[in-house]
Amino acid sequence: MTTRDGWIDEEYRGIVRTGFRRTKSLFKAKSAFQSVEVVQTAGHGKLLLIDGMTMVSERDEFVYHEMIAHVPLFLHPRPRRVLVIGGGDGGTVREVLRHKSVESCTLVEIDGLVVEASRRFIPSTAGKLSDRRVRVRIEDGVKFARETSERFDVVIIDSTEPFGPAKALFGPAFYKDVKRILTDDGIVVSQAGSPFYEIGTVKNLDRLLRPIFPVVDAYLFTNLTYPGGLWAFAFASKGLRPVKDLRSTRISSAKLPLKWYNSDVHVGAFALPEFLRKALSRRSPAAV
Ligand code: SAM
Repeated sequence: MTTRDGWIDEEYRGIVRTGFRRTKSLFKAKSAFQSVEVVQTAGHGKLLLIDGMTMVSERDEFVYHEMIAHVPLFLHPRPRRVLVIGGGDGGTVREVLRHKSVESCTLVEIDGLVVEASRRFIPSTAGKLSDRRVRVRIEDGVKFARETSERFDVVIIDSTEPFGPAKALFGPAFYKDVKRILTDDGIVVSQAGSPFYEIGTVKNLDRLLRPIFPVVDAYLFTNLTYPGGLWAFAFASKGLRPVKDLRSTRISSAKLPLKWYNSDVHVGAFALPEFLRKALSRRSPAAV
């Protein structure tokens, strides 16, 4: 990340910069894992950065958090126990808790500094981390998935990119553990990176999930702050198909105060552009 006077720039893979007009630096510290920073910006609210990469902007975080949470939670017939790995800013947990059927949401975040900074400076995402249904564990999600005897209906991997502490979250051993801790109609979704800049990450995740889960897919969203705008999630389940098994009446009857997600957006998110379909060895859409 570089700073020009009055600007904070995310430099992505040395090939693109996204600049935000910074009005105030609110927090900056280093943990054993990464540097964590919160800045106030002129046009995007507060920004959370980890190792100089934008994680959350108050301006558009609702897109990412609604799409990572409501796609699996409205597809599952009755999600009660949810596991979020990563997600220390709390935005995913906030969206999970909107579902009345959810009895418990376990957040496993490796870096307590991210939770602390988010609780202090970004209550709009972290405010629900104190909800009675939430249990926050500061530990490695890979270890938790390997050792827990608990079972979950939905697992959400809201992690950083596949390096540093997050690297093992993009490996087959971890997903075999995730499959073990999912209930019979369990679903897992994962932050999968940019189809434009990191198609390798999207492909690798898809390829490693295929031998482990009977249903594997990818879905897309767009936002303001991530480099290139277009971003992917990986989807896998023990049987539920992300579009065919969606009961849109569940969405309409829940009447949640959402700003991005709805049944059309859910279905459309799984409509992949040709370059991505080919990269994921998907057949082209059937003739309609
Ligand atoms: N929305 C962001 C994105 O798309 O990049 C991710 C937000 S959240 C801040 C990512 C979190 O994953 C970070 O707080 C990081 O500490 C956490 N994380 C990385 N590796 C982890 C691991 N092995 N176990 C648990 N949390 C991990």
